[in-house]
Amino acid sequence: MNITVYDGAETIGGNKIYVEEGGRGVFLDFGMNFARYGEYFAEFLSERSVRGIHDPLYLGLIPGLNIYRSDLIPSDVDVTQYPKLNVEAVLLSHAHLDHCGNVGYLHESIPLVASATTLAILKAMRDSGRPSAGGEVVYYSPKEFSDDSRVLKSPYGKSYRGRDFICTDNISNELRDFLYIKPGQESKNAKKLESGEICCIGDRELPFDVRAFEVDHSIYGATACILYGDTAIAYTGDIRLHGKKGDETRKFVKEAKNVPALITEGTRVSREEDINVSEKDVYQNCLKVVEDNKGLVIADFSPRNFERLETFKEIAEKTSRQLVVTAKDAYMLHAIELADSESRMDGVGIYRELKDRRDKWETNIVMEKWGESYVDPVEIRRNPDSYILCFSFYDMKHLLDIKPKGGVYIYSSSEAYSEEQEFDFLRLYNWLETFNFRIYGFEIVFEGERLKPRFVRGYHASGHASKDELRWIIEEIDPDTIVPVHTENSEWFAENFEGVVLLKNGDSVKVN
Ligand SMILES: [Zn+2]
Repeated sequence: MNITVYDGAETIGGNKIYVEEGGRGVFLDFGMNFARYGEYFAEFLSERSVRGIHDPLYLGLIPGLNIYRSDLIPSDVDVTQYPKLNVEAVLLSHAHLDHCGNVGYLHESIPLVASATTLAILKAMRDSGRPSAGGEVVYYSPKEFSDDSRVLKSPYGKSYRGRDFICTDNISNELRDFLYIKPGQESKNAKKLESGEICCIGDRELPFDVRAFEVDHSIYGATACILYGDTAIAYTGDIRLHGKKGDETRKFVKEAKNVPALITEGTRVSREEDINVSEKDVYQNCLKVVEDNKGLVIADFSPRNFERLETFKEIAEKTSRQLVVTAKDAYMLHAIELADSESRMDGVGIYRELKDRRDKWETNIVMEKWGESYVDPVEIRRNPDSYILCFSFYDMKHLLDIKPKGGVYIYSSSEAYSEEQEFDFLRLYNWLETFNFRIYGFEIVFEGERLKPRFVRGYHASGHASKDELRWIIEEIDPDTIVPVHTENSEWFAENFEGVVLLKNGDSVKVN
């Protein structure tokens, strides 16, 4: 079996790993490389959808291969000059954009292999968002040439097209229906969804025997996998041991014992200081903050970190407050309930955003199901002690409707890694100052000549394995060949283990 890392070899995220044998292969993830993307693009400068794959291909944000969606190739791009790979599927480890965010560029015939929960999350994200072409993971709006064939347009009235799905676990009829339908498509003028086929792993032939294992990460539905061909290769995806599903990770590690090759993430090995905060620590520390304070509590954690949402739900129950989420969060929770039958919305409120029109996913599903649970901003203003509000930076504008008089803000998410992200923290700080919030989880300090955020540990648990956890995982599996990805310090692996192969983007290794 051959492993080629097309992207993600030396960055955190952007994984595009091709595993091939006898001319047939699969991609392990096809994510967006935020580090490289950010070298060219910013908030008001992005790739142009009318130019299809032209922009990302020209800038090297997607590899030069002949594997892309046929409707995204403008007349001035010649894909035949690139190698054509026989990609029979893309295996998605989880629904974070640095792993799945470029799947929308892949040829429409390539099916998506993922867990039921991952499929549910991706579908809800697509229904409730407006992604660029690369982000059209589960279904896309087909494009065609405009009068100038270098320019692509989405013709009026043409249906959305769904990708085929191969689910790595059982799929309920309710989830099947959810994947087949776009909310509101039954109304006369609505754009329909022509869905692809949905089957389970084993129903459709793939180049390898694929075994997927649920693992612990900061999003539910995350899986690691083992591919069996003439030899066997395991892939961690993003993984950790210190969350609620740590035992699932341990099961994977046990099953992967003595697998000849391991492709592993190494997010945290580049960080000097590596104190491990567990999800339980987060619960204890945040509970104390809520117990010790009066007024409105805002909990800021990354979207789709449902485990953290459950942590704050427990804290809310313990402190006689109600957890209030955004309508989009509620839609996501609806979707994952279809996959794992766990209802997470009991007793949870939904923030009533002031807006003139609501999308169909909200009116037809969220309001239909939980219309009674909406909480008005004025109600929150009147009874701030009764709520924990799940907001993040982009929701700060809603404080203008709530007009809270003080309260606490708990930052429960990862640190800023770029200057741009640091600037967002200065803006966030201004919002919180305006409404007199006490801040936990970060502070603003003078460093040199300028203001910078400094993060206070204890309110966030990383989605990734610590150095010690990673060492344990690798020593237990004890592979002959180790290929690090999703890391900025692959040397750490070479210094600590035998059989490490350091690849650069585009490099291959043969595994026997
Ligand atoms: Zn991830």
